[in-house]
Amino acid sequence: MKKLFFLLFLSFSLVFAQVPEPSGSEKCVVCNMDLKPFKKTLSAAKLKDGSIKYTEAPLHLFEFYFANKDRVSQLYVKDYKTGKWIPAENAFYIINENGPMGRDFLAFGSKIEAQKFSKGSKIYQFKDITPKLLEELKTDHIH
Ligand SMILES: [Zn+2]
Repeated sequence: MKKLFFLLFLSFSLVFAQVPEPSGSEKCVVCNMDLKPFKKTLSAAKLKDGSIKYTEAPLHLFEFYFANKDRVSQLYVKDYKTGKWIPAENAFYIINENGPMGRDFLAFGSKIEAQKFSKGSKIYQFKDITPKLLEELKTDHIH
């Protein structure tokens, strides 16, 4: 019985984690970039009014979030390994030196996968991501 409840819980959480893929004409809410080439780094903010805003990668998602905190109900990022949506607060992030707009993040649902990709560089969690870190990413001063 316990196992059944666990499976039910798991399937519910997967359903809740689903975000529709953007329609072909959707653009990044921050930089207005075409989203089509960025299927593996796509990120999304679900707003309290039920609408969804997309960005091409996590950096712009966090920028949008910090500027609109009171309007956002949930943030989602794509697991770079599986291409599945995951809640942003459950993801592990590594720095991607060659992001769509310069330095950016790659998100992973699994810490082990993040470690494999990071080759020893730092792994960030949602709580580590601050406006200050975003500024550091955009300049050259990562500590
Ligand atoms: Zn953007």
